[in-house]
Amino acid sequence: MSAAYSCPYCSASDVEGLTVCHCGGDLTLLLRIDAAADAWFNRGLEAAAAGETAQALEWMAACCAARPIDAAAHRARARLWAQLRRWPDASAALERAAELEPDSPDLAGLRQAFDAAARRNRRKTATPAHDGGEK
Ligand SMILES: [Zn+2]
Repeated sequence: MSAAYSCPYCSASDVEGLTVCHCGGDLTLLLRIDAAADAWFNRGLEAAAAGETAQALEWMAACCAARPIDAAAHRARARLWAQLRRWPDASAALERAAELEPDSPDLAGLRQAFDAAARRNRRKTATPAHDGGEK
Protein backbone atom coordinates (compact mmCIF):
# COMPACT_ATOMS: atom_id res chain seq x y z
CA MET A 1 0.00 0.00 0.00
CA SER A 2 1.16 3.51 -0.72
CA ALA A 3 0.76 6.12 2.02
CA ALA A 4 -3.00 6.30 1.87
CA TYR A 5 -3.60 8.67 4.74
CA SER A 6 -2.09 11.07 7.19
CA CYS A 7 -2.87 11.88 10.80
CA PRO A 8 -6.04 14.03 10.98
CA TYR A 9 -4.69 15.76 14.11
CA CYS A 10 -1.15 16.76 13.15
CA SER A 11 -1.07 15.87 9.41
CA ALA A 12 1.95 13.58 9.85
CA SER A 13 2.13 11.36 6.76
CA ASP A 14 4.40 8.64 8.20
CA VAL A 15 1.66 6.97 10.22
CA GLU A 16 0.90 3.94 8.05
CA GLY A 17 0.33 0.84 10.15
CA LEU A 18 0.23 2.80 13.41
CA THR A 19 -2.83 2.81 15.67
CA VAL A 20 -1.58 5.83 17.63
CA CYS A 21 0.22 8.73 15.95
CA HIS A 22 3.48 10.26 17.23
CA CYS A 23 1.33 13.16 18.43
CA GLY A 24 -0.84 10.78 20.47
CA GLY A 25 -3.80 10.95 18.08
CA ASP A 26 -5.96 7.83 17.82
CA LEU A 27 -5.69 6.37 14.31
CA THR A 28 -7.79 3.25 14.71
CA LEU A 29 -10.82 4.78 13.01
CA LEU A 30 -8.58 5.72 10.11
CA LEU A 31 -7.35 2.13 9.86
CA ARG A 32 -10.91 0.85 9.86
CA ILE A 33 -11.88 3.26 7.09
CA ASP A 34 -8.86 2.13 5.13
CA ALA A 35 -9.79 -1.52 5.58
CA ALA A 36 -13.35 -0.76 4.49
CA ALA A 37 -12.07 1.05 1.40
CA ASP A 38 -9.98 -2.01 0.51
CA ALA A 39 -13.00 -4.29 0.93
CA TRP A 40 -15.21 -2.04 -1.21
CA PHE A 41 -12.55 -1.84 -3.90
CA ASN A 42 -12.35 -5.64 -4.02
CA ARG A 43 -16.13 -5.98 -4.13
CA GLY A 44 -16.14 -3.50 -6.98
CA LEU A 45 -13.64 -5.62 -8.89
CA GLU A 46 -15.70 -8.75 -8.24
CA ALA A 47 -18.90 -7.08 -9.43
CA ALA A 48 -17.10 -5.78 -12.52
CA ALA A 49 -15.80 -9.26 -13.28
CA ALA A 50 -19.34 -10.60 -12.92
CA GLY A 51 -20.59 -8.02 -15.42
CA GLU A 52 -22.51 -6.06 -12.78
CA THR A 53 -21.20 -2.69 -13.90
CA ALA A 54 -23.65 -0.46 -12.03
CA GLN A 55 -23.07 -2.38 -8.81
CA ALA A 56 -19.31 -2.22 -9.35
CA LEU A 57 -19.56 1.56 -9.76
CA GLU A 58 -21.34 1.86 -6.44
CA TRP A 59 -18.60 -0.05 -4.65
CA MET A 60 -15.89 2.01 -6.32
CA ALA A 61 -17.73 5.22 -5.43
CA ALA A 62 -17.82 4.08 -1.81
CA CYS A 63 -14.10 3.31 -1.98
CA CYS A 64 -13.34 6.74 -3.45
CA ALA A 65 -15.46 8.45 -0.79
CA ALA A 66 -13.61 6.66 2.00
CA ARG A 67 -10.21 7.11 0.36
CA PRO A 68 -10.34 10.00 -2.13
CA ILE A 69 -6.66 9.68 -2.99
CA ASP A 70 -7.00 6.09 -4.31
CA ALA A 71 -5.88 6.47 -7.92
CA ALA A 72 -6.54 2.80 -8.73
CA ALA A 73 -10.15 3.16 -7.62
CA HIS A 74 -10.58 6.28 -9.79
CA ARG A 75 -9.14 4.43 -12.79
CA ALA A 76 -11.48 1.52 -12.11
CA ARG A 77 -14.39 3.97 -12.03
CA ALA A 78 -13.24 5.46 -15.32
CA ARG A 79 -13.27 2.01 -16.96
CA LEU A 80 -16.72 1.25 -15.56
CA TRP A 81 -18.19 4.56 -16.74
CA ALA A 82 -16.70 3.82 -20.15
CA GLN A 83 -18.45 0.46 -20.21
CA LEU A 84 -21.68 2.36 -19.70
CA ARG A 85 -20.66 4.83 -22.44
CA ARG A 86 -20.78 7.71 -19.98
CA TRP A 87 -17.78 9.45 -21.50
CA PRO A 88 -17.85 12.73 -19.53
CA ASP A 89 -17.96 10.76 -16.27
CA ALA A 90 -15.26 8.39 -17.51
CA SER A 91 -12.99 11.30 -18.45
CA ALA A 92 -13.61 13.08 -15.15
CA ALA A 93 -12.67 9.96 -13.18
CA LEU A 94 -9.60 9.44 -15.34
CA GLU A 95 -8.44 13.03 -14.88
CA ARG A 96 -8.84 12.68 -11.13
CA ALA A 97 -6.73 9.50 -11.29
CA ALA A 98 -4.15 11.34 -13.41
CA GLU A 99 -3.89 14.13 -10.82
CA LEU A 100 -3.28 11.58 -8.09
CA GLU A 101 -0.88 9.36 -9.99
CA PRO A 102 0.37 11.11 -13.15
CA ASP A 103 2.91 8.39 -13.96
CA SER A 104 0.52 5.43 -13.98
CA PRO A 105 1.22 3.25 -17.03
CA ASP A 106 -2.53 2.75 -17.59
CA LEU A 107 -3.34 6.41 -18.23
CA ALA A 108 -2.24 6.89 -21.83
CA GLY A 109 -4.04 3.80 -23.08
CA LEU A 110 -7.26 4.65 -21.26
CA ARG A 111 -7.19 8.26 -22.50
CA GLN A 112 -6.74 7.12 -26.08
CA ALA A 113 -9.55 4.59 -25.83
CA PHE A 114 -11.90 7.15 -24.25
CA ASP A 115 -11.08 9.85 -26.80
CA ALA A 116 -11.63 7.50 -29.73
CA ALA A 117 -14.89 6.22 -28.29
CA ALA A 118 -16.13 9.72 -27.46
CA ARG A 119 -15.35 10.86 -31.02
CA ARG A 120 -17.25 7.91 -32.49
CA ASN A 121 -20.09 8.68 -30.15
CA ARG A 122 -20.24 12.36 -31.13
CA ARG A 123 -20.29 11.51 -34.85
CA LYS A 124 -23.11 9.08 -34.27
CA THR A 125 -25.26 11.53 -32.31
CA ALA A 126 -24.40 14.48 -34.58
CA THR A 127 -25.84 12.66 -37.61
CA PRO A 128 -29.64 12.28 -37.59
CA ALA A 129 -30.60 8.63 -37.87
CA HIS A 130 -32.14 7.57 -41.17
CA ASP A 131 -32.14 3.87 -40.54
CA GLY A 132 -35.76 3.00 -41.26
CA GLY A 133 -37.11 4.37 -37.99
CA GLU A 134 -39.54 6.66 -39.84
CA LYS A 135 -42.80 5.38 -41.27
ZN1 LIG B 1 -0.60 13.06 14.62
